[in-house]
Amino acid sequence: MKVISQPNANPVPDADREVMVNASGFGKFYTDNMVIAQWSEADGWQDAQLQAYGPISLDPATAVFHYGQEIFEGLKAYSQPDGGISLFRPEANAARFNRSAARLALPEMPDGAFTETVMALVRQDRAWTPAKVGESLYIRPFMIATEVGLGVRPSNKATYLLIATPASAYFNVANAVTVWISTEYVRAAPGGTGEAKCGGNYAASLVAQKAAALEGCDQVVWLDAVERKWVEEMGGMNLYFIKGSGADATVVTPKLTGTLLPGITRDSILTVAADLGYKVEEVMLSVDDWRDGVASGEITEIFACGTAAVITAVGMAKSSMGTWQTADGNPGKITLQIREHLLGIQHGIIEDKHGWNVRVC
Ligand SMILES: *Cc1c(COP(=O)(O)O)cnc(C)c1O
Repeated sequence: MKVISQPNANPVPDADREVMVNASGFGKFYTDNMVIAQWSEADGWQDAQLQAYGPISLDPATAVFHYGQEIFEGLKAYSQPDGGISLFRPEANAARFNRSAARLALPEMPDGAFTETVMALVRQDRAWTPAKVGESLYIRPFMIATEVGLGVRPSNKATYLLIATPASAYFNVANAVTVWISTEYVRAAPGGTGEAKCGGNYAASLVAQKAAALEGCDQVVWLDAVERKWVEEMGGMNLYFIKGSGADATVVTPKLTGTLLPGITRDSILTVAADLGYKVEEVMLSVDDWRDGVASGEITEIFACGTAAVITAVGMAKSSMGTWQTADGNPGKITLQIREHLLGIQHGIIEDKHGWNVRVC
């Protein structure tokens, strides 16, 4: 897929952009450009266009509005010590995007096209990448079904889009989040779309997020759909549990059963934790294991991980089965160590032994 570049002729002036990058939050401001590419069953993928960021116009009968045929990704570009910029594991996002596409009956992208379009946008809008460690340029690729018509069928047209937004810290690192373990709602069931990164999963999760907020919680923890017993994920992030402490600690994460989203941060942490000398396990972990583990002191730390927030500690857990707290409720030592190590690799401060960083410019 070629990227035809016709960048924004009126980019945000330097001074205004700097104000936005410094007060970025998450998803508040978007860069000067975006990428768009069209696919049809008849003609396949057309060249991608890099053009000024702005609204797109769609017929009200476009498939995505009615049946939710949409997928997305999230990855980040990180500033490097020499002033350059690197992407973190973009090929892993590309592979997952194609797996999500297959599940949602959307077209897969040609080999290399995903990363090429991401590189083109980041190179063009590189000035929007914050320089500070822990901040980044968040890139959101997505694909929507664009056949016009209300008939229920896999769309014969699709549009791929790429937008980017400067991102400062998603959660305050010093604070642990409080979670609501939902026994009423489930995120994903066997045979469903839990492994795919699709908007529909999120649409169905928002009511539980609301219920969590009513309970005074920041986030929802999802249990498996069948037994409502096994811990799966937290909101849009994977979970980690630390058993024991110091050099003998074991770093544990729920096993990928087909209903969890296989996070790239989750996968990277399995490697980073082992590199740091910890035992690492992928297991089935129940709510009882969680409650009993924090009560006995066997579980010493809990954190959630994902591209947007990287790593955030989990302090208090509330549910219909009671309320309990991880250790003293504050982010733990190993949580912070893993976070710092991963961010160090992403920012080029710690050696990238596994070849995860892809240099853009
Ligand atoms: C995106 C996502 C994650 C985290 O995946 P990363 O690749 O680490 O960003 C976890 N759970 C859900 C439901 C997600 O959508």
